[in-house]
Amino acid sequence: MFALDDTIVAISTPVGEGGIGIVRFSGPEAEMILEQVFSPAGHAVDVPALESHRFYYGHAVDRDSGATIDEVLAVLMRAPRTYTRQDVAEIHCHGGIVPLRQTLKRVLRHGARLAEPGEFTLRAFLNGRIDLAQAEAVLDIVRAKTDVSLRVAMQQLDGGISAPVRAIRHRLVQALAHVEASLDFPDDEIPELDVAAVLQRAQQDLQELLQQADQGLVYREGVRTAIVGRPNVGKSSLLNALLRTSRAIVSPLPGTTRDTVEETLNLRGIPLCLVDTAGITDSTDLIEKLGIERSHQALQQADLVLLVLDGSEALQAEDRQIAELLRNHTVIVVVNKSDLAQVAKHHTIEPEAPHVVLSALTGEGLAALEDAIEHTVFFGQVQTPELPAISNPRHSEVLSRALSQVAAAQHTLSNQGAADLLAVDLTAAASALGEITGETVSEDVLETIFASFCVGK
Ligand code: GDP
Repeated sequence: MFALDDTIVAISTPVGEGGIGIVRFSGPEAEMILEQVFSPAGHAVDVPALESHRFYYGHAVDRDSGATIDEVLAVLMRAPRTYTRQDVAEIHCHGGIVPLRQTLKRVLRHGARLAEPGEFTLRAFLNGRIDLAQAEAVLDIVRAKTDVSLRVAMQQLDGGISAPVRAIRHRLVQALAHVEASLDFPDDEIPELDVAAVLQRAQQDLQELLQQADQGLVYREGVRTAIVGRPNVGKSSLLNALLRTSRAIVSPLPGTTRDTVEETLNLRGIPLCLVDTAGITDSTDLIEKLGIERSHQALQQADLVLLVLDGSEALQAEDRQIAELLRNHTVIVVVNKSDLAQVAKHHTIEPEAPHVVLSALTGEGLAALEDAIEHTVFFGQVQTPELPAISNPRHSEVLSRALSQVAAAQHTLSNQGAADLLAVDLTAAASALGEITGETVSEDVLETIFASFCVGK
C-alpha cells in the first residue's frame, strides 16, 4: 500500500444507479491505460496526445474486440497538479454498475490494480501534497453531517490544525537543538534561548487547542440521541417537531458491518444521530415489548437521552421505571403537552437533569429544548465564536500526550535536571506532535487511518 510505482484504479462514485459514475486511476501508467480504453470522438484511428486537464468526449472501448462499452467523458491530469501528484485519469461513464464495471475491467486488464480504501488520498499524503491531518480532513468532509461539521473539516483541510501544531513543534525543536548544542559543545558560546519560556508557551498553546476539542468532537462525530418515554407521551410528535426546525439527514452508518441507516437531526449545526429510532420512538411499549435487557442495550449506545413525560397526566409507575434505566445517562427531561392543563410533580423525576416544559403540538418551548441540548452536549462550556480547531479524537489524544511531555520537560528543568534528560522530554514532545501532521507516524497508524476511507477516495 505504501508503494507508489504501480497504477491504482477504483470506481470513485457510490454504487447504484446515478447520472454519472467515475472510474479513476492514478499512477505512472495512467496515460498509457487511458489511451487503451478511451477513444476520443473524431479520432478513431490516430489518437493525438491528450492535453492535460481537459475533458474529451468519446467512448470507452475494448480495443481487442473493437466493442464500444459506453459513451463517456474522459480527462487526463498530468502530474504534478493532481490529487495524488501522480498522473491521474478519470472516465465519466453513465452511472450504472454495468458500464462502470466494464470500464474498470478494461483498466485492470491494461495493468492497473484495484485501489485499497483511501489509497488515492494516501498517495496525496505520501507525495507531500497534503499532511496527515489534512488527509483525515478529506474523510471528515465526505462524512460531514451538518454545515458546521463541514466547516470544521474544511478548516482542517486548510491547515487549521496543522499550522498551529507545526508552530509549536518548531519551537520545541529549536529548544531541543539548543539543549543538545550545550551538551555537545559545552565550551562554545551558544546563543541564548529561554527554554523555560518556550515550554510555557507550548503548554499554553496546547491547552488552548485542547479546550475546544470536546466541542469539535461533537461536530465531527455527532451526538447519539435516544428519545424515550412510555406510550402516548408524545415522542413521535417531539421528533416531528424537531424535524421541522432542522433538516434531517439520512446517512448509512459508516464503519459498521450492519447496514444500518441512521437518521441525523441538524440542531444548530450539531448532528443529533437518532439511536435505534424504530425501537425507541415507536409508540408501542418499549419496556414490555423489548424487555428491560434490550432497552438497556439500545440505550447503551446513546450519548444523550431525551426522556419524554406527559405534563398533562400524573406521573406513572412506567415513567419511573424508564427513568430507572437512565441512571448512568446524560438525560434531558422533556415535559410535553404544555398547551394542556399541567399536573405538578414532574420535577421529581431525574431531579438533577435539566427539565424543559414544551408543547410538541404548538412548538412552544422547543427553542428552550434546543438551548438545553446545546448546553448539555458542550458540557456547559461557553461556546467560542470561532470554529474549534480540533475535532478528531486521535488529535486530542496526541495533544494530551504532548502536553504531558512538555510538563515532564518543565519538571526536569525546574529540578535542575541533567540536560540530556531534558533533551529526552523535548524529543518526546516534538515527536508526539509530529504524529498529527504525519511526520513521525508509524505505518500501522497510517494503515488504520486510511482503512476507514471508502474505496475510490
Ligand atoms: P408517542 O406514543 O410517545 O410517540 O406519542 P405521540 O407522539 O404518538 O402522541 C400521542 C398523542 O399525544 C397524539 O394524539 C398526539 O397528538 C398527542 N400529543 C403529542 N404532543 C402533544 C402536545 O404537545 N400537546 C397535545 N395537546 N397533544 C400532544
